[in-house]
This record gives sequence, C-alpha cells and structure tokens, in this order.
Amino acid sequence: MQTDVLVVGGGPAGLATSIAASLKGLRVTVIDPRKPPIDKPCGEGLLPEAASALRTLGIEIDSRIAVPFSGIRFSDESSSATARFSGRKAFGLRRTVLHHLLVERATQLGVSLLWGAPILNLDSHSVRVGDNSISFRSLVGADGLHSRVRKFAGLDSSRRPHSRFGFRRHYTIAPWSDVVEVRWGAKSQMIVTPTSASEICISLFTSNPRVRIGGALGQFPDVAERLRGAQPVSTEAGAVTTLGRARSVVRENIALVGDAGCTVDGIAGQGLSLAFQQAIALAEALGRDDLAQYEFAHRRITRTPIRMTRLLLGMNASAALRRKVLRLFDSRPALFSKMISIHADGPAPDALGAGAILNLGWRVLWA
Ligand SMILES: Cc1cc2nc3c(=O)[nH]c(=O)nc-3n(C[C@H](O)[C@H](O)[C@H](O)COP(=O)(O)OP(=O)(O)OC[C@H]3O[C@@H](n4cnc5c(N)ncnc54)[C@H](O)[C@@H]3O)c2cc1C
Repeated sequence: MQTDVLVVGGGPAGLATSIAASLKGLRVTVIDPRKPPIDKPCGEGLLPEAASALRTLGIEIDSRIAVPFSGIRFSDESSSATARFSGRKAFGLRRTVLHHLLVERATQLGVSLLWGAPILNLDSHSVRVGDNSISFRSLVGADGLHSRVRKFAGLDSSRRPHSRFGFRRHYTIAPWSDVVEVRWGAKSQMIVTPTSASEICISLFTSNPRVRIGGALGQFPDVAERLRGAQPVSTEAGAVTTLGRARSVVRENIALVGDAGCTVDGIAGQGLSLAFQQAIALAEALGRDDLAQYEFAHRRITRTPIRMTRLLLGMNASAALRRKVLRLFDSRPALFSKMISIHADGPAPDALGAGAILNLGWRVLWA
C-alpha cells in the first residue's frame, strides 16, 4: 500500500492533520493501536482559537453538540478575576464527541483510517502494520506525549520537561457558570468546564500522583458544596501533563504535531487549540513539499502559549505571587481580558501586539 502522508496517531492532532492534508489533495493514512471513540484525560475546553481552526477544517462546533462559554475566571480562596472573550465562542464538550466529529470528517474526505493497528516496524519510508507494509513520502508523528516517532527521528529533547499529573471526572449537574473556572488551592488547581446542559467536567492538576479529585475537594470548598449530591458519571482518569518541546519538529521527511512536538501543561487548556493550528500549518507545508516552513510556523504558534503557561505555573509556586496576580487582574480587567484574549483568541488584532501585552503583564507582576 502507498500513501503520500502516513500519520502515526489518530488523536485530535493526527486526525486534524489528516483532514487538513486531504483538503490539500494529498492521500493520507492514519494508524492508531486504539479504536474509536478514543478518550483521554482532558479538561475538555475548546478555546475560541480551537473552534475557529476546526471550522477551517470543515467541522462546525455549535450549541447543539457543545456548551458555549464566554470567558475564564481565575480564583483562589480570597480573590477572583473574570475575563470575557472578545467575540468568538469557546465550547466545552466530551473528548469522545470531539473524536467522533474528527473521525467523521476524515472519513468523509477519504482518509484511510487503520484502527487497532500497532506499528511493528518503522523506517523513514515505510511501516509494517500486521501483514501489510505501507510506504509513504512524509511521516507525521501525532502519537502524543511519549511519541515513538519523535524518538525514531532523534528529536527527543535533551532538557527534562516540567511534569506533573492531571485527572478528570464528569458529574451530573447543570453548569452553574457561563465561564470556565480555574481555581487555585493550597497544593493543586481545579478547572470546572461545562460539557453538556446537565454535566460538568472537573479536572485537577497536582505534583502529587497520590492525590485524587475527591481527596482534593477540601482545598476547593465552593466546588465541594456545589457537587454535594451530584453523581459522578465517569471513572476518574489521569495522565502526565508537561511543559516541554521536542528538539525540533522536523527532520527530513518527518514532522511532529500536537503533544508529540510540544506540550503545554493542561492548566493552560490550550493543547487542542495548538494541535489544530499546527495541523493546518503542517498541511500547508506538506502541500508545498516544504517542511522547513512548518518548523517556522510551529515556533510562531507555540511561542506565546508557552510564555503564558510559564506565568500560570509561576502562580502555583507562590501563594503571595498568586494573590498579587489575582488582585492585579481584578483591578485591571482590561489587561486581564487582553492577556486572556491573546491566550484563547490568538494574537490581538490591535496595534499593541501579543508580545507587548504579555511583557506589560510580566512587568506589572514582577514590579
Ligand atoms: C488533565 C488534562 C487536561 C487537559 N485539558 C485541556 C483542555 O481543557 N483543553 C485543551 O485544549 N487541552 C487540554 N489538555 C491537553 C490536550 O488533552 C492534549 O494537548 C491533546 O490531547 C493533544 O492531542 P494529540 O493528538 O497530540 O495527543 P493525544 O490526544 O495523546 O493522541 C495521541 C494518539 O496517538 C496514539 N498513539 C500513541 N502511541 C502510538 C503509536 N506508537 N502508534 C500509533 N499511535 C499511537 C494514541 O492512541 C492516541 O490516539 C489537557 C491535558 C490533560 C492531561
């Protein structure tokens, strides 16, 4: 069997790449050892930039299949600040629903989807899957945080990434807010995302692998009170979450996309948005047979989110800094909204660019 592009990994990044590359007229094959619908621990928030990238791929997210939310609230035990997105909508929806939508669109475009297909042997122009050999022109590693393709291409970073743990669980309760809540507790952070009219997703981020959502609720008394009597409707699932990037995302005819190339800690809620933007940029480069162009685009797409994630992780490290940040955001809502817009909506369209606003935020914070 022959294909133009072989995508290893049929998660959000791999499927989005397959769709974008098909739209460029390329023959694409996706392989994944798992079978749909593929679930993964995730906060399940799609920021406006993610919804907009999905639209470019021909997938419309609306309130029939997802819950719109209009901003983000940061809070701890004593302060809170809310930022609203400027115009574009964000959505909460189950990962399995998102996966189904991506599979449906890829199928519609004629992508060959090989599920339950572990790779047996990989070289730079072919792969063996079961009894079949598939030869390809370009290879895309979309196989997540522990990417085998990244290792094969020699693109593992020599730096140790900043790692911790993320857990998620769903509860039957009507969402109580039209914003996603990011709450800081003494030793962990909790995010509340609406995932349907009668369900929310709670995610927890911690450096302690032994902590679970139930045990951490004591740090979040408001959420604990809301959840009193609500039924959990999924088993708790966890994953490692990191801030780190591959040495490079391109080597010869191999490219990395999504978590395989760069991960931002789950607290940033941006992994999906980055994956979809990268998929579109990668397909453009594949269509022009110029992967170097993708390396450049990848840096542009990830630069600001990485800085923003460092800021969020800095807030975990010190309660004093966190209070200062929350008070600042509360007292300067325009600055907070601008920073969140850059984070969630993509670069600000006004004269003051994304870098300048983030720098301003940093200067005020560290003053
Ligand atoms: C707790 C938590 C909460 C998060 N919350 C959010 C959020 O609210 N919003 C957001 O945008 N992001 C969030 N993220 C990040 C987001 O989940 C990831 O960035 C996103 O899943 C990356 O997609 P991906 O396709 O690159 O990787 P994955 O989703 O990990 O998919 C990788 C795929 O590759 C397959 N695979 C693995 N190995 C192989 C192999 N050897 N061969 C073939 N296939 C293989 C896997 O089966 C899988 O299907 C969160 C992350 C965590 C941990």
